[in-house]
Amino acid sequence: MRGVLADTIPETATRNLYIETYGCAMNLADSEVVASIMADKGFKTTQEMKDADVIFVNTCAIRDNAESHVWGRLKEMRPYKRSNPGLIIGVLGCMAERLKTQLLEKEQIIDLIVGPDAYRDIPQLITQVEEGQKAVNVLLSREETYAEITPVRLSSNGVTAFISIMRGCDNMCSFCVVPFTRGRERSRDSESIVNEARELYTAGYKEVSLLGQNVDSYKELDLEGNIICNFAQLLEKVALIAPDLRVRFSSSHPKDITDEVLFTMKKYTNICKHIHFPIQSGNSRVLALMNRTYDNAWLKMRLERIKEVLPNCGISTDIISGFCTETEEEHQDTIELMRFAKFNFAFMYQYSERPGTLAARRYADDIPAEVKLKRLQEIIVVQHENSMALNNAEIGKVQTVLIEGFSKRSENDLRGRSDKSALVLFPAENYKKGQYVKVLIERASQTSLFGKVIELVDFNN
Ligand code: SF4
Repeated sequence: MRGVLADTIPETATRNLYIETYGCAMNLADSEVVASIMADKGFKTTQEMKDADVIFVNTCAIRDNAESHVWGRLKEMRPYKRSNPGLIIGVLGCMAERLKTQLLEKEQIIDLIVGPDAYRDIPQLITQVEEGQKAVNVLLSREETYAEITPVRLSSNGVTAFISIMRGCDNMCSFCVVPFTRGRERSRDSESIVNEARELYTAGYKEVSLLGQNVDSYKELDLEGNIICNFAQLLEKVALIAPDLRVRFSSSHPKDITDEVLFTMKKYTNICKHIHFPIQSGNSRVLALMNRTYDNAWLKMRLERIKEVLPNCGISTDIISGFCTETEEEHQDTIELMRFAKFNFAFMYQYSERPGTLAARRYADDIPAEVKLKRLQEIIVVQHENSMALNNAEIGKVQTVLIEGFSKRSENDLRGRSDKSALVLFPAENYKKGQYVKVLIERASQTSLFGKVIELVDFNN
């Protein structure tokens, strides 16, 4: 295998790979692993579909609309196949794992289907296709972590990078397809994770995000099955690499955010004070139906504990509106919990029944679409109020910001994120990406903070 940073695709790479990635950060990280595997087989990545010899669509199956979008994209790819019969089109990721060969039946242009644990097999599958067959590998694994494969950093800003530390999920939340599309939990060895982080730092990256479906249940085991490194210990190992290497992590299950994790975050200034805390609902009966293993009272107790140990911690969440049999009163429990928690931001969705899940097998998807939508809109209104109030409270305060690049709106402004993951925009002056700056916040919107740099942070002093 090559050195850590596979930005350097082998000169011998002559064929073009085009990857389109949907869904979560884990899928982005997986596409970088796939690009690395393909680079070893002489493929370099292209941003132009028309120049591709191979097109991969790395898919998400978390909600119905995620899948319908992919069906639309595949239709749009038909002309490319017609104009270039040698073009190979593959579907990867959670939709590939969920639907398997059904994809081939429904869409003729697809040549290969590869599940999230079978990416090492891609070169062999491509050979099968080149010999005229359709190729499929959707075997899930209990070991696969792609630990020693060096990701090709796709569309990287050169400052922040993802490191996937574990795969799969053992929490059988009744609405979720992930355990079926990504299999059982398994963790990478901590040494390979720390090495990858150290080499990213050496190459100039200033922030790593540790990724997993449920990072807090990370556990490195010895041959006897004893835990030799848990998530808090891994966080500490990565934080000790360098004081100016920021460490973030996502996604957590609330039940696994231990006091040990909170106190480790408190101990290191470079472990960012932001926790993604997906509640999904605020009502205890609905949470039980969702098999979330906690209730309203426990959520409040845990949120208070986070704010007690980390007073200035940013907290974000996921919320589903209109889950099976949810009543209006139970929906109001979610609204009340949001008012209690004051999340900095949230990912908010309507319940989308996923075939094969426990909920689909046991509960009727009985909340009318217009009621799901009305409840979602109420949730969004409350979240916007909270985000606006919390961002306004930052006016007049100073945030330490890691510069990620130019603002999407203007080359005169730079963008970066605060310790608690708020987006901060400010005039560029002579500052550049990869630097840490102290920004005095002068204005706020519901999604961003605006200010001016008052100081360049120098970690050597
Ligand atoms: S924790 Fe629950 S919602 Fe999250 S990936 Fe696992 S099963 Fe899905």
